[in-house]
Amino acid sequence: MKLTGVHLLLTYQCTFECDHCFVWGSPRQEGTMTLATIRHVLNEARALGTVEWIYFEGGEPLLFYPILVRGVREAAESGFRVGLVSNGYWATSPEDAEVWLEPMASPISDLSLSSDLYHGRERLSPEVRNAQTAAEKLGIPVDVVSIAEPEAGARSCSGQLPHGESGVMFRGRAAETLASRAPHRPWTGFDACPHEDLEDPGRLHVDPLGYAHVCQGIALGNVLTESLKDLCERYEPSSHPICGPLLAGGPAELARRYGVRPRPEYADACHLCDQTRHALRSRFPEVLAPDQMYGVPEAG
Ligand code: SF4
Repeated sequence: MKLTGVHLLLTYQCTFECDHCFVWGSPRQEGTMTLATIRHVLNEARALGTVEWIYFEGGEPLLFYPILVRGVREAAESGFRVGLVSNGYWATSPEDAEVWLEPMASPISDLSLSSDLYHGRERLSPEVRNAQTAAEKLGIPVDVVSIAEPEAGARSCSGQLPHGESGVMFRGRAAETLASRAPHRPWTGFDACPHEDLEDPGRLHVDPLGYAHVCQGIALGNVLTESLKDLCERYEPSSHPICGPLLAGGPAELARRYGVRPRPEYADACHLCDQTRHALRSRFPEVLAPDQMYGVPEAG
């Protein structure tokens, strides 16, 4: 596995509780990365020698602003290109947004702002507009990411969504809250993972508890108990208990392999994958982890 990107989930907490969120971000979530863990992951990423990008995301990473600023700076000082993903809640005016961004302006090479009808009443919220204006003034490359409504599923499949808009992936909270609004198809047709390169992942998401996820909720190991290098070297895609079946025949094969009885139809491959993994959690507690990724409210 040649990792080029490590995405740090700085926190599971968020100002919002969006229906489409696949990490179940919410103000009630628990789990935030300490500076010591950030430094540990940066050291591990540097030891690999292949990682170019470190992303800070969440939840909403600017909720833990001083730690984020320190982490961003130390990542840049370690020679990584740095990305940041935020919902822009902090950008109350262009001038104030500049104050928030300025301490991170030179290290950040990619600012990704989330704005859509899940986050607010307008597709492009005033806060995200303010953050965009401030970022452009500071010379930070910035992009807005919008997720389409579930009813846009057909347009999403035919590539007809407006520029910058993506279709919903029905995993995490979206599987519970939005899937019923989308057209469904027979489960047997979901015979491949459409979004992640499970054979040779180029990036991993590391959460505050140290779990390294190939897709949110599918852990390859824990960087607090083994080195990232060992974790990458020991990854055998075909013998991983979840990635193996997914590679062999997608979520449909995952259900078949472990005798999980699916419903007749699902909204997409992620929906079947998510529901099957929920049913398998007690069997693979260290792989299908942590509770936060499965919406267990009392997680912590
Ligand atoms: S099919 Fe499963 S592994 Fe693939 S992107 Fe969807 S949820 Fe992740």
